[in-house]
Amino acid sequence: MDARQTTSDPPAAPARGLSIRARLMLLALLAVVPLTLDRVRQLENSRVERLETAHNEVISLTRRAVESESEMISATRAVLRVAARLYESTAGKPNDCAAAFVGVATDVPWIVSLVAIGPDDRVTCSNLDGLIGLDVSGRAFVQKVRQQGGFVLSDQVVDRAGGAPAVVAAHLTASSRPQGTVILAARIDLRWIGRASGAIARRAGAAAVLLDGRGTVMAAVPGQEGGIVGTRFIDPSLLTHMQSQAEGQTAIAWLDGVRRIAAFARLPGTDSLVVIGLDEREVLSRIDHEIGIAYLQLVMFGLLTLLAAWFGGEQLIVEPIRALARVASRIGRGELDARPSGQVWAAEFAPLVHALADMGWRLSERDRELRSANRHLEALASIDCLSGLANRRSFDAHLEAEWQRAELTGRALGLMMIDVDHFKLFNDNNGHVEGDRCLQMFGRLLANLATGADFAARYGGEEFALLMPETDLANAMRLAERLRADVAGLGIIHRTAPEGIVTISVGVACLVPAAGEPPRVLVEAADAGLYEAKRSGRNKVAAEAPPLVPEAGKSVLTTT
Ligand code: GH3
Ligand code: MG
Ligand code: MG
Repeated sequence: MDARQTTSDPPAAPARGLSIRARLMLLALLAVVPLTLDRVRQLENSRVERLETAHNEVISLTRRAVESESEMISATRAVLRVAARLYESTAGKPNDCAAAFVGVATDVPWIVSLVAIGPDDRVTCSNLDGLIGLDVSGRAFVQKVRQQGGFVLSDQVVDRAGGAPAVVAAHLTASSRPQGTVILAARIDLRWIGRASGAIARRAGAAAVLLDGRGTVMAAVPGQEGGIVGTRFIDPSLLTHMQSQAEGQTAIAWLDGVRRIAAFARLPGTDSLVVIGLDEREVLSRIDHEIGIAYLQLVMFGLLTLLAAWFGGEQLIVEPIRALARVASRIGRGELDARPSGQVWAAEFAPLVHALADMGWRLSERDRELRSANRHLEALASIDCLSGLANRRSFDAHLEAEWQRAELTGRALGLMMIDVDHFKLFNDNNGHVEGDRCLQMFGRLLANLATGADFAARYGGEEFALLMPETDLANAMRLAERLRADVAGLGIIHRTAPEGIVTISVGVACLVPAAGEPPRVLVEAADAGLYEAKRSGRNKVAAEAPPLVPEAGKSVLTTT
């Protein structure tokens, strides 16, 4: 089957593409996406900046903590030197030595005990009575200071007496006493070290710990010691990494489970590490909150843009297009005076509006021309071109209409059937051209005779008819007689006719249509009259008396 479109087919619905609104939304998205991405990039950058700031802050805090711890340790070192001198100066006077040590230890609050240890690793002088003579040869700090010499800080010391966590600062020095060397050692209350760090690290979300060389928490910021002092803080590999450098930074899962941005630094001259951490979530919470709000704003902005594209597109583009489509469709349906409304159109629509208005105007012009041509053609189709009278088709239609009208009004409808006498002979004698001229002259005569509602027509050949609405038989006969006389009066020579001129015979009928009677009844009646006129010698007018007049019977009226 051939699916090709022909001009007689209605146009097929066009294939539908992406709607204008969808396209507008796409464009809006294309405009919004780069802005969005740029904003996201800015936010991510500020997140990175915030992290950097936090790193810098935690490093600075750590340095300050180390400084503070170092000051304490330097002070302790100074105390040990003083103690060494006191130890020298009180040689042989144990009570004086103890009293001097008590005085020194009292002045320094973080020092719990201050001892002098002789070469036999026994305490020879102390601020605490109970320690004199105590054998400390097994203590790690003693071995360490004997190995390293100078000043050492021990790892956390397990307090056998159950006191506060502590470290021991030890100083090996030469002595003028006979044995040669002496170790001055101070036990430091680690809570003081924690306090020194805590004063710096007391910041929301911050935590600080002091680790010994084994990675054990020696001290923590006051309030955070609970449960963590004495525990292993980090795994050995990380500890080794941290101890391998003077300071650094990393992210650590703290002992309380919080992940912290941390910085660490070694206490100079010791294996101890100060580690300070800032709660990563706390640091990032504000920026993350801001990023969340920004994303929300972007989503809202995107949605608003899409909505604006959708409704704006509807109002500004789709609705005008629909309005124009409605006008085009009305014009297509034949409402040729339909025009786009007088609203202000966007510049891009103006050509379309103008084209539609122009199309409507041209189509209505074309329509007027076609109607006029149709009327002209209709007129031509109903006229007999030789006589200029109505033709047979037009006569039949007219007769039908008048017959129905007469049936409604009950008024008589008259009809003349006219036939030129011996016209064949006329043609034979004078030729058809002359015959045509004769018929034309007759046509003009008949046209002049027809007045008012009378309707003259060429019935066929040399036969004519005159329809006379609302005319009684007497008037119709009178008119027919006048016509017959007028034709004879023309005096058109017809040598072979008995009269020597062209004459006509006329049959007349006048009827009031009976219900359901066809109009041919009137034609047959007039034909009967014509037949009678011919039979009675031609150049006659004859009529059958109307059947509606009973006393007249079916008599024939004839005039010459
Ligand atoms: P009658 O009516 O008196 O009995 O005789 P008639 O010779 O008129 O009758 P008939 O009907 O035999 O002839 C009619 C003639 O009319 C025949 C034809 O040549 C002529 N005729 C018909 N139409 C035309 C026409 O358009 N032009 C011409 N010139 N002659 C026509
Ligand atoms: Mg005839
Ligand atoms: Mg004739």
